[in-house]
Amino acid sequence: MTVRRVTIFGSTGSIGENTVDLLQRQGGAEAYEVVALTGGRNIARLAQQARALKAGLAVTAHEECYAELRKALLGTGIEVAAGTQAVIDAAERPTDWVMSAIVGAAGLAPGFRALAQGATLALANKESLVTAGPLLLAEAARHRATILPVDSEHSAVFQALTGEDMAAVERIIITASGGPFRSWSHAQLAEATPAQAVAHPNWVMGQRISVDSASMFNKALELIETKEFFGVDPAMIEVLVHPQSIVHALVGFNDGGVMAHMGPADMRHAIGYALNWPKRCETPVARLDLARIGQLSFEAPDEDRFPALRLAREVMKTGGLAGAAFNAAKEVALDHFLAQDIGFLTMAAVVEETLARLSGEAGLTNAPVDLDTVQQMDHLARKRATEIIATRRIAE
Ligand code: NAD
Ligand code: MG
Repeated sequence: MTVRRVTIFGSTGSIGENTVDLLQRQGGAEAYEVVALTGGRNIARLAQQARALKAGLAVTAHEECYAELRKALLGTGIEVAAGTQAVIDAAERPTDWVMSAIVGAAGLAPGFRALAQGATLALANKESLVTAGPLLLAEAARHRATILPVDSEHSAVFQALTGEDMAAVERIIITASGGPFRSWSHAQLAEATPAQAVAHPNWVMGQRISVDSASMFNKALELIETKEFFGVDPAMIEVLVHPQSIVHALVGFNDGGVMAHMGPADMRHAIGYALNWPKRCETPVARLDLARIGQLSFEAPDEDRFPALRLAREVMKTGGLAGAAFNAAKEVALDHFLAQDIGFLTMAAVVEETLARLSGEAGLTNAPVDLDTVQQMDHLARKRATEIIATRRIAE
């Protein structure tokens, strides 16, 4: 059997670590040729992973970390590089399977580049589809590359759709745990702190996606991700709050049947599915014990307390570059919330105001024809969101 070549963008993050764990369980450096690993400031961990997997190249996104990474890998024969461009360049190295697990809009370019060589793209970076869905899918089609969803809900939908005819699909339901603030009042939400927002009840994830789960911005991004990836009318997509996080998604068909995908809240299921697709292979996730869990409950989401979902619907209606603007404004608002500069509820207000302002300017409805167009909208939305936050703070 030929050794499969793999690349991981964001290997030191939550998804990245889980991917490395699975690679190691599936034979590590003997079974895989690890072409490149990229990370951020956790140089010790990046170097450790590169050594363990005998990677060809290790890249840190930060130029100032170059010397430290070089020192950590001295004498190993592993190539070292640093900087944003070096991360993107790593995508040009011939490979068969790419994990896109950088958080935020920065994850778009490396995954997009990897498609040009026809590699299979395991897409955890949902921002890629939110900001540039049509562009990404067209690039994949052009190079006969496969994109596989890694987000648990989208992997679940993908699995439920296997062997089915899309024409028979009536609706797609993605579930949301509701996060740590599911039953909090409006007044409580206004006072929520970053530390409280990060404490997700079911999933262990990176800091940013954890806060996005608490605000439902994560589910908002996932609504758009569903529309883009599966190419369905937004009216067919529903969000269902399910606090146990056992059912990840459901697909309803025109004969009234509904296929639900269940599994424990462990991303190694979805990552393993994308790694081994179209086969299924053993993964170490805990096996479901439904008798012990006893009850699964469901409720409708509350769009008053969590306006992110309503905003996502507006973004889908606008189309064009609205997804890029939405995500960028959300990232800026999130940074300011994490810095305790703005309150929890202000995040959605900032995003809403940014979109409103941009709708009066040129470009929002333009199609994402290339990476530059997407990046320009990203920059413009960041600028507007930053201005809006500055004005609000003066007013407050
Ligand atoms: P994380 O913060 O734990 O890790 C992010 C990784 O990207 C790290 O390796 C970090 O060094 C790197 N990185 C961060 N900013 C970067 C930049 N500007 N340039 C280059 N590298 C950068 O994030 P995560 O929780 O693993 O999430 C990764 C992606 O997967 C996100 O898009 C998230 O929405 C998605 N996702 C995560 C989970 C989860 O369970 N963690 C589930 C579904 C989807
Ligand atoms: Mg998800």
